[in-house]
Amino acid sequence: MRLIRARINGGALRSNLQRLRGLAPASKLMAVVKANAYGHGLVGAALALSDADAFGVARIDEAIALRAAGIRKPIVLLEGVFNAAQMAEAAHRQLELVVHEAAQLSLLEAWRGEHPFTLWLKVDTGMNRLGFRGADLPAAWQRVTALRPRPAALRLMTHLSSADEPDGSVTRQQLQRFAPLAQGLGVPLSVANSAAIFATPESHCDWIRPGLVLYGVSPFADRSGTALGLQPAMTLETTVIAVRQVAAGERVGYGGAWRAGRASRVAILAAGYGDGLLRSLPNGAPVLINGQRAPLAGRVSMDMIAVDVTDLPPVKVGDTAELWGPGLAVEAVAAAAGTIPYELLCAVSQRVPLETV
Ligand SMILES: *Cc1c(COP(=O)(O)O)cnc(C)c1O
Repeated sequence: MRLIRARINGGALRSNLQRLRGLAPASKLMAVVKANAYGHGLVGAALALSDADAFGVARIDEAIALRAAGIRKPIVLLEGVFNAAQMAEAAHRQLELVVHEAAQLSLLEAWRGEHPFTLWLKVDTGMNRLGFRGADLPAAWQRVTALRPRPAALRLMTHLSSADEPDGSVTRQQLQRFAPLAQGLGVPLSVANSAAIFATPESHCDWIRPGLVLYGVSPFADRSGTALGLQPAMTLETTVIAVRQVAAGERVGYGGAWRAGRASRVAILAAGYGDGLLRSLPNGAPVLINGQRAPLAGRVSMDMIAVDVTDLPPVKVGDTAELWGPGLAVEAVAAAAGTIPYELLCAVSQRVPLETV
């Protein structure tokens, strides 16, 4: 028996993809599956999302793993390639490249292979991370259009920095910068990440690039995935391995960080930072045991957490607990930890077996 496991609901992934198609019916959909599909398992998630028009990954190894699993759809390297060896590998695997800086143009110009790449030129409209500055875009554009062999296709993209914020002014400014740059190029455009798909329909353009929402999780601080019509795809589940009585005044765990204010019952669960739980989860963070919420009691240790189950019906060894999933939104757990759900999902570690259902 596995004490801890992440159950991945393929039906939820498919349903979320359809929900996004409904929101952006005129756009193609690049399913972003970087970081092991946000912790959901790269290959399993991509197979469940096989209806996507393309996949987006951050690292070439992820793309190679997808090809090795038999995935034939376009795969976009969201940061492009950084040397000739990677470019040869990308050609061999028929990968599409984001091009965001001059050195990547030079690599393409020096490329002597037969394979014509599909290129996604990236322009920086305010994120100030990757992408050509607007003023440099015409020169970059000229260089890609002069490439021989000619690129198989050209696209223009940008990335939004603040699409999840209720005040959409930064996003509007980015869109206002993007529009004139895109004007007249006559190529497909891509702007929208998860938050923008919901908050900024005018950003949908030709290709949407959802990540988080595919997994059924909300990028907005004030709304859950369920409220957006999504289904959480991961249930992180573990097992009660001990239950103990703790007298009033006694302390639990490393540093004695939780103190029983009354005679208490404490359940010990097989989940810790070795599984990817954040040690910054504070006392009181929610855990679901036998379908009821109970507060974390004391520090997260490597392999265990303690939960105050005094107010729950009797909990026994072998009972199942949900750390997040359909019964307890990962968004709520992230809020308790002072972080975003992206970080919790990506942190789920190698030792947690993924069970795709
Ligand atoms: C990660 C990423 C996305 C997806 O972001 P979400 O907020 O998870 O939707 C889209 N585009 C690019 C370039 C990315 O790096």
